[in-house]
Amino acid sequence: MGDRRMLIDGKLVDGEDGRVFDNVNPATEEVLGPVADATRADMARAIAAARTAFDTTDWSTDHQRRKEVILQLQAAIESEKEELRAELVAEVGCPVLSTWGPQLDAPLREALVWPAEMIERFPWSRDLEPKDAFGMGIVAERQVWKEPIGVVGVIVPWNFPIEIILNKLGPVLAMGNTCVLKAAPDTPWNATRLARLIAEHTDIPPGVVNILNSSDHLVGEELTTSALVDMIAFTGSTATGRRIMEAASATLKPVFLELGGKSINLVLDDADFATAIPSSAGVCMHAGQGCAMPTRLMVPNARYDEAVELAKAAFEAMPYGDPTDPSNFQGPQVSKKQQERVLGYIEKGRQEGARVVTGGGRPAHLPKGWFVEPTLFAGVDNQMTIAQEEIFGPVLVVIGYDGDDDAVRIANDSAYGLSGMITSGDLDRAKGIAARVRTGTLSINGGQWYGADAPFGGYKQSGIGRQCGIEGLEIFTQTKTVSWPVA
Ligand code: NAD
Repeated sequence: MGDRRMLIDGKLVDGEDGRVFDNVNPATEEVLGPVADATRADMARAIAAARTAFDTTDWSTDHQRRKEVILQLQAAIESEKEELRAELVAEVGCPVLSTWGPQLDAPLREALVWPAEMIERFPWSRDLEPKDAFGMGIVAERQVWKEPIGVVGVIVPWNFPIEIILNKLGPVLAMGNTCVLKAAPDTPWNATRLARLIAEHTDIPPGVVNILNSSDHLVGEELTTSALVDMIAFTGSTATGRRIMEAASATLKPVFLELGGKSINLVLDDADFATAIPSSAGVCMHAGQGCAMPTRLMVPNARYDEAVELAKAAFEAMPYGDPTDPSNFQGPQVSKKQQERVLGYIEKGRQEGARVVTGGGRPAHLPKGWFVEPTLFAGVDNQMTIAQEEIFGPVLVVIGYDGDDDAVRIANDSAYGLSGMITSGDLDRAKGIAARVRTGTLSINGGQWYGADAPFGGYKQSGIGRQCGIEGLEIFTQTKTVSWPVA
């Protein structure tokens, strides 16, 4: 049984009127258990606690203490890592295989530790040249200080919940901010576990981290409109990102938005098709529920049919089903709503004239759980809905191109620009194309860029700002320029 209570002002509490909602296992459709359902009043208390902790304690200035308590949190999570792993598989429906990588172990190695260590190395101040700015005979020393931004509202989705939480919490806390974290209603227990670990196993001061769950998305919206919140850090859909930016404009608070994607998997004509094309079925990992997945496979028209045959074989061999089985790559969609959304896109693809090569529906052999068959579309034009919109399911579209310029044109003909892959027998040629694709991250010939030190985020409608890396620390700071006369 997971943790029910949320964390407000250092205390583990139920919601104001004791309401709860159910946490459901998407692979079995069984109720896992209850979780406290926050109201707007609970959110207001959490925001006030974060404000007070920021304004009235030395949290924002005590570097050494911050490092110590972030590392305490790291140790606390590690001590319950296996319970957390099982819980993630149960509530997210992610294959256990993915928890040994991006879902848990990869972020757990670095997401808190790297920012904690960067507290000592971060350039908190820098000197400018002394200057007589107005030519009035007063030469002044000048310095630029970096300071925490204040109270950060952190809003996260359900697809990689703990990965996203840790990659936000680490930098937010390392830079000296306080926060209110609103977890995703579909995956509440990893957040409430974190709440308990913070309360019972760390010296993180009361109010510095507040964690809430709510079945009502609009409770999260309070963060975006509150004048007591200085910034929003959000990961989720582009539609919600747009709404958050609009709401945040009333108080002119900066927004960091990590949104959707429709990334390319561009295979050049000199690539080894026998290895490059089958790996495109990697989009089925975690049922395609990843914003950075390369869901547009682009191949030269001259080798289109060969590529589709190779991809078909890989899709038909994709092991999926029970996410607790370590041989499965793909589990269910996170909810019935998501399953229906994915099936709706598949139907739309058919209506617009694309051809389902394999898959295309619910798997008959998995009557329980919100599964969708690994689905491959051929005959896809880049203007079709299934080539333009984020499906968030185990669905790949194959698009043909003629020559490198055409490939770049199609790659960039998207509202999104989050990630992507390029494969070529010639690294320099691939790098040349990488420089022309408008996207925030790119993997060339299977290289992996991921890490707490690696900025991640989107061009165009894939977002604003970067998570992780130096850029992902700076984003949670304000800049103050000060000067005084040279002695
Ligand atoms: P969503 O954007 O609706 O929700 C993400 C988070 O935002 C949740 O915690 C939700 O409660 C909160 N939220 C929703 N409305 C809000 C509002 N008005 N103000 C403040 N917070 C609000 O995403 P979803 O419904 O969970 O998924 C829908 C689609 O979003 C998916 O199919 C997929 O396309 C996309 N998605 C993208 C990512 C990503 O990493 N880029 C992650 C999850 C989902």
